[in-house]
Amino acid sequence: MDRQQEFVLRSIEERDIRFVRLWFTDILGSLKSVAVAPAELEGAFAEGIGFDGSAIEGLARVHEADMLLKPDPSTFQVLPWRGEHLGTARMFCDVLTPDGEPALMDPRHVLKRALNKAAEHGLTFYAHPEIEFYLVKDPILPGIEPTPVDQAGYFDHVPRGTTHDFRRAAIGVLESMGISVEFSHHEAGPGQNEIDLRYADALSTADNIMTFRTVIKEVALEQGLYATFMPKPMSAHPGSGMHTHFSLFEGDRNVFHEAGAEYQLSKTGRQFIAGLLKYAGEATAITNQWVNSYKRLWGGAEAPAYVCWGHNNRSALIRVPMYKPGKGQSTRIEYRAIDSAANPYLTFAVLLSAGLKGIEDGLDLPDGADDNVWSLTDAERRAMGITRLPESLAQATAAMEESELVAETLGEGVFDYFLRNKRQEWHDYRQQVTPFELDRYLTQL
Ligand code: GLN
Ligand code: MG
Ligand code: MG
Ligand code: MG
Repeated sequence: MDRQQEFVLRSIEERDIRFVRLWFTDILGSLKSVAVAPAELEGAFAEGIGFDGSAIEGLARVHEADMLLKPDPSTFQVLPWRGEHLGTARMFCDVLTPDGEPALMDPRHVLKRALNKAAEHGLTFYAHPEIEFYLVKDPILPGIEPTPVDQAGYFDHVPRGTTHDFRRAAIGVLESMGISVEFSHHEAGPGQNEIDLRYADALSTADNIMTFRTVIKEVALEQGLYATFMPKPMSAHPGSGMHTHFSLFEGDRNVFHEAGAEYQLSKTGRQFIAGLLKYAGEATAITNQWVNSYKRLWGGAEAPAYVCWGHNNRSALIRVPMYKPGKGQSTRIEYRAIDSAANPYLTFAVLLSAGLKGIEDGLDLPDGADDNVWSLTDAERRAMGITRLPESLAQATAAMEESELVAETLGEGVFDYFLRNKRQEWHDYRQQVTPFELDRYLTQL
């Protein structure tokens, strides 16, 4: 047993932990959990704990259903909302096959593989997400438009506001679980909030995002509220994005930074953006994986729809945020398409691969866009070489299907499973006759 594993066992004893939840994520980004007694952990660390993988979306075919969960001791945290008495803790797990090999269908493994490729070049990938979500009053029921908890807007300070109390409680829980929060505020939509996590290596950030989604829902429930990460829950209000800032370090040097360069952005940084732009269309099925995601992307309200980059341009897909003088390490790239319901492991894996490919192929970065790209005409955008992101899940899956980069990054199994699943989702959606059609056509035609 190594030192981290021993530390976990000791903490469990000292803190009277009775249940240890083993967490992992399926291909579409749902959190899965199985609780084990502390006595099982020694074995779990040594060989993993068996479970029936066929029950989990996309994990294993029925004839190879037995899988193992191997807890990652560095992710051990007590779940504060379960209370002190008979405490509960959790660890994220790697999923293994019965022979102890990484399961190819495990999204965490997909990300680790991509990160290892960067590590071969001495590079570490960092991420910090700005996570948006809605708080609503009533239990969330399928088919019913939710009622937001307030009518406030962007950065509003609401005296005695429900969302102040909510954010304070949520941040308290996150911090106690080792997840640092940098900013939090009311977002533009009624009941919409944003919480920005401090940057961390991309694997920890992906784990943190999964934890975040659970924490937000738990804290909401404690306060008699409900939370949703649906990309566009109400047609009249902005969607919930998960803009994410990325940087790439070699040792303790930020390779996106170059003092004196335009926006302090190095040639490597420019090539990375060029890679992201080139593969943005192919990656969109992953960054925006639901039928509903496209209602956000094409619904305006500062969601990006066109493939371009800019400095402080909030209509662009990629933004190079303002440089803070003297803070060379803070040079970074903000990718704005991702929504709050993406699978963070697959998303980070695909975007890292796209950026690295840009560096590998020495891609040139086209000029940035200074204008609001929504207000340009199609002809103007075409003249500037600005293309559109996919406009629907159908277009996005079609673009992904042709993508060698995405296939290679996800691996054949995940790639095929994902496409099959998404084609089915589109098929189910297309069968519907929607309220829009009934309103528009029933009496008129
Ligand atoms: N809600 C917007 C989006 O979906 C972002 C708004 C903002 O943070 N400027 O991307
Ligand atoms: Mg923000
Ligand atoms: Mg925001
Ligand atoms: Mg942002």
